[in-house]
Amino acid sequence: PSAHCTEMLCLSARHWALRLPHQLTLTSCLLLPSLALLSSGTSASVQAAQSEDKSRDLKRPGPRIAIIGSGVAAASAAYFLRDKFGSNCRMDIVTDESSATLVGGRLGVANFDGRKFESGGSIIHDKNLYMRHFADVLGLSRLYHGEETRLAVFNGRDTVLDTSDWYLVKMVQLLHRYGLAAFVQLRKFVSGMMEDFGRVYARQNAGQAYTNVLGLLSAMSDSFPAMATETIEKLLESSGFSSEFINELVAGAMRNNYGQNVSIHGFVGAVSLAGAEGGLWSVRGGNRLIVANLLSRLAQSQQADEAESGKVRLLLNSRVTQIAKDREGWTVTSTDASRSTVVEQYDQVILTVPPSQHFNIEIKDVKVPRVDYQTTVATFVKGRLNHDWLGLRSRQSEYSVLTGTPASPLDFNSIGYQHDVDKNPSDNVYKVFSQRVLTAEQVNQLFTNVESTHSVSWLAYPLYRRGLSINASFVLADGLYHTSPIELAASAMEMSAIAGRNAALLAFNDWTGKAAELTDPSGGGQPKPADQVLVQRDEL
Ligand SMILES: Cc1cc2nc3c(=O)[nH]c(=O)nc-3n(C[C@H](O)[C@H](O)[C@H](O)COP(=O)(O)OP(=O)(O)OC[C@H]3O[C@@H](n4cnc5c(N)ncnc54)[C@H](O)[C@@H]3O)c2cc1C
Repeated sequence: PSAHCTEMLCLSARHWALRLPHQLTLTSCLLLPSLALLSSGTSASVQAAQSEDKSRDLKRPGPRIAIIGSGVAAASAAYFLRDKFGSNCRMDIVTDESSATLVGGRLGVANFDGRKFESGGSIIHDKNLYMRHFADVLGLSRLYHGEETRLAVFNGRDTVLDTSDWYLVKMVQLLHRYGLAAFVQLRKFVSGMMEDFGRVYARQNAGQAYTNVLGLLSAMSDSFPAMATETIEKLLESSGFSSEFINELVAGAMRNNYGQNVSIHGFVGAVSLAGAEGGLWSVRGGNRLIVANLLSRLAQSQQADEAESGKVRLLLNSRVTQIAKDREGWTVTSTDASRSTVVEQYDQVILTVPPSQHFNIEIKDVKVPRVDYQTTVATFVKGRLNHDWLGLRSRQSEYSVLTGTPASPLDFNSIGYQHDVDKNPSDNVYKVFSQRVLTAEQVNQLFTNVESTHSVSWLAYPLYRRGLSINASFVLADGLYHTSPIELAASAMEMSAIAGRNAALLAFNDWTGKAAELTDPSGGGQPKPADQVLVQRDEL
């Protein structure tokens, strides 16, 4: 068990909602020291960098690779390609984003009320080993999130839970409403899943790549694919959780994290609950610094490099319109800022663009299965919560409000008091998640004394409808890889980082002829002896 513990991953958890079980988890740890011990092994299984001849596996000159997009998946793919190929591959990161310092895809920062706030992916778990590793090699600070606010659960009509901001009182209130057993069970459920999930690091460290999502999940645990075939509601019901707990806290977390209800599949639902293990952080200055700094440092380090073969270029303002195969490899067509058409030739292409309703890249003779993505609007409001309308007891305190049931006619997903990206408390700034842009009337119903608002709309994550199949391929064609199918299992920064590394491994294994040995089409297979080291800090 201790070996497992060192490899444990806590799947990504989001936002403040998941701190609720976290707090109770801490309480349960006090009550149940054996459970606390189980989760104490947090040391990273991402290996320390060593020097190595990166060209040792190459039987021919390295490839020219295009990575399309500039979010977490792209940054991870670039980082791990560099790790595998060293300077024996040329990389172009081709993105429609316009500024090297602002890239990040669905990681975004909103400028509001003279401060910066996370508007997209906000919370990272301490056991998200890749995100943590990237922050560490880049020298970025991790800011841990505490339990600063009161928590309310609103059922669409009434507030059914309204806690104190005193930690111990809050614990007693939560235990009183849901019972100790629910939190002990939740902890068991989450830690068992995380232990299995952590196997992915050892396998990727060993160079193992997966051709499809089902295979990747099966390689972690035989039970994961089955979890994705039933709803989180059914899964928790059959594990003995009460309907009150499911319909209030769990449903509130699902609406906050994925803008959807407890009918989302069990695997993504469990990912959403993984914050129960605690240890949530974000990057000082904004999470997108991980992506921006990783990409620009890789590009800068290579510009200084004389060797053409090791060049990394960040091609901004380049919207890819077409990808096509010819005898030489792959041609990627894009339009640049001046609307000129640019055509480049590559040996391999890693596509990190989600196949949502906005996907508009033509890929000749290749079908990219489309997935409906859920719209989530993040609205920043400077104002006072309308305590009367929401039925909140305290008029002084900052609140986080979950709603497991749509709050007709407003239909918001959650409301959270905000700290800025440097963790300074804001002056009455709240973030509301909703499925549509809130009207002024709706904002004025939820808040009083509204001074200003600002909203950011995202095609945020797949609609985890019943029947959504996770049997999707990471390989679109020979030499053309796609990272986004991992979101069918669960959308989170760490998942994209895992998919980015998987794509880098697929590309490397194919290029070096190791695919037969290290890439199992069914995605299974035993890990091979570790031969993987990571890019050294001074190589970035
Ligand atoms: C509101 C919100 C809250 C979230 N909260 C969390 C959280 O707390 N924790 C967590 O772990 N995850 C969270 N997530 C999910 C997380 O942000 C995403 O799963 C992750 O950032 C996806 O990264 P990606 O690189 O796979 O995709 P993306 O970030 O979407 O990257 C795709 C890239 O492709 C580019 N692109 C698109 N079309 C083209 C084209 N034609 N040509 C060139 N480039 C193109 C885009 O500009 C972008 O750079 C949240 C997401 C949202 C929206």
